[in-house]
Amino acid sequence: MKTRTLAVAVVLSVVSMTRVPAQQAPADLILTNGKIITVDERFTIAQAVAVRGDRFIAVGSDQAIGKLAGPSTRRIDLRGKAVIPGLIDNHMHLLRAGTTWQYEVRWDGVASRAEALERLRARAKTVAAGEWIYTLGGWTIEQFADDSRPFTRAELDRVVPDHPLLLQASYYKTYLNSRALQTLGIDNATGVIDEAGVRAVAARVPVASGDRLEASTRQMISDLNKAGLTSFGSAGCETDVLPLYRRLADQGQLNVRVFCITGAAAANPQQVDRVVAQVPSMKLFQGDRFIDHVFYGESVYGPLHDPMFVPTTNPQPDELAQWRRIATEIAKAGLPLHVHANMTNTIDAFLTQVELVHKEHPIRNLRWTLAHVNQINASQLERMKALGMYAAVHPWAVINGGINRTVFGEAAIDMPPLRTIQESGITWGLGSDGTRANQILPFTTLWWAVTGKMVGGRVTVGPEQTISREDALIAHTRRNAFFVFRENDLGSIQAGKLADLLVLDRDYLTIPADQIKDIKPVMTIVGGRIVFGS
Ligand SMILES: [Zn+2]
Repeated sequence: MKTRTLAVAVVLSVVSMTRVPAQQAPADLILTNGKIITVDERFTIAQAVAVRGDRFIAVGSDQAIGKLAGPSTRRIDLRGKAVIPGLIDNHMHLLRAGTTWQYEVRWDGVASRAEALERLRARAKTVAAGEWIYTLGGWTIEQFADDSRPFTRAELDRVVPDHPLLLQASYYKTYLNSRALQTLGIDNATGVIDEAGVRAVAARVPVASGDRLEASTRQMISDLNKAGLTSFGSAGCETDVLPLYRRLADQGQLNVRVFCITGAAAANPQQVDRVVAQVPSMKLFQGDRFIDHVFYGESVYGPLHDPMFVPTTNPQPDELAQWRRIATEIAKAGLPLHVHANMTNTIDAFLTQVELVHKEHPIRNLRWTLAHVNQINASQLERMKALGMYAAVHPWAVINGGINRTVFGEAAIDMPPLRTIQESGITWGLGSDGTRANQILPFTTLWWAVTGKMVGGRVTVGPEQTISREDALIAHTRRNAFFVFRENDLGSIQAGKLADLLVLDRDYLTIPADQIKDIKPVMTIVGGRIVFGS
C-alpha cells in the first residue's frame, strides 16, 4: 500500500512538472534559469516556474517551462538566483502595527546601538520639531553588540532634543527623553519606565487615523513585502482598521494576505456570560484569498493570559472553570481556536481543560492551536498530539533572550525548545508575535532557528535546540499555510497554488548559517504581481 501510494505520487509529480497542455493559454509570467526551492512535500528543487493569473501553472525545467511562453509572456531570467515561497507569519498584530508604523523608527534586527541612534537622528531631521518619534517594541537593549547599557535621559536628549521621544524595549522597559516626559506630564528623573508601566505609557502616544492610517499602512505593507512577508495570521484584526484592507483588496492593491484571529476576550465571569452567548453566532471562513477570519483567539479568559516576563504562573481553578465555559462553546460551535499559552503551568492547565472539553465535544478536526509556547515540554507535546492539537511557535527569545536569562535563568536556554518540538512530530509553524513583543524580519527568525543566536549574537538556545534550515523554512512556509487554513493555496511553489514567491539575493540553502539573517529578497511576487523589486 505504501509503495503504491508513493508510485502514484511520483507519477503525478512528474506529470505536473513536465506537462505542457496544448490547448492551454500561454503563461503571463515565467521565471527561468533559477534555483526554485519549491518547499513541496519532497522539497523539490526546480529551474523554472510559470504563472497565469494569480496562480502557478507549472514548475519544472527551463525547457519545459519555456514552452509555456507566448508572445505576450513576461520573462524573467533569474541568473541562478534562489527562489522560495512567500513567507507567512502565523501570528502578528498586523492591523495595529499599521496605526503606528509612520511614527515608528523600527530597530528589527539592528545589532548596533550606534546604528539605532543614527536612525533616530535621521528621522528627527525629517519630522517637524515637537512631533512624536517613537519605537513600540520589536527590539531590546541586549541586542546591541557594541553597547547594551540602558539608555539614559541625557543621552536621548542629546540625540533627539527637539521631539518627544519614546523607546519601548519589547514589553520590558520604556525610555523617554525630556520632551516626552514634559509632553506626557510624567515626573521621572531617569526617564525609564519599568515593565508594569510600559503598556500604559504606550497607549498615550498618537496613532494614525483617516488618510494618515492609509499612508501608514501602505508604507508598512511595502516594508513587509521588502522583508519577504506575503501572508499573515493577524492577531486582532481591529474592526476600525479592517475596512481599509477590504478596500485595498477590492481595488487589487492589497499586497499581503490577512487571516484573522479574533474573538471577544472575557475579563470576568459576567463577560464570560456574554461571550458564551455570542460564540454560537460567530462566523468564520466567509472571506476570500486576501482577507478571511479563520480562528477564535488569541485570548479566551483575560486573567489566564500569560505575561511575558514572570518566572512562573499558578492558574486558579475558578479561572480555569471560566476558561472552560468559553472553550466548551467554541468546541460546540465547531470553531478553530488559536490561544495564547506560554508558561509550563498554564499549558498544563489548559491541556487539562481541553481534555475535559474534548470528551464531550471532540476537537480533533478543529485545528486547536497553542500559541507562543516558549516553555512547552515533551510530555505536553504528546498530550497535544493525542488531542489533535497544533503548536504556533513564536520565539520571543530572538530579541528577548537577554531578558529571559535574567528572569528565567538557565531555563531560558530551552525557550522555546525548538528541536524538541520538531522531533515530537507535531504540526508546528513559525511566527513572530510582532511588532511589539518581538522583531518581525523572517530571515532573522530563520537565522535564530538555525543558529540559536538572538539579535546581536548572544546565544539564547542551546545548540541541542536548533533545527535544520530546511525544517525552519518549511515551518515559515508550507506548515504556516496550514495555520491560516490555506494549505491548498499557499506555502509552496506548486502548480495550482497562488503565485506568492521571493527571489533572493543569495541561496538560503548553501550560504553560511550566520548569513541567513542578511538575506534580502530582490523581488517579491504576490498572486502573480510584482509587489517589490523589478
Ligand atoms: Zn499572545
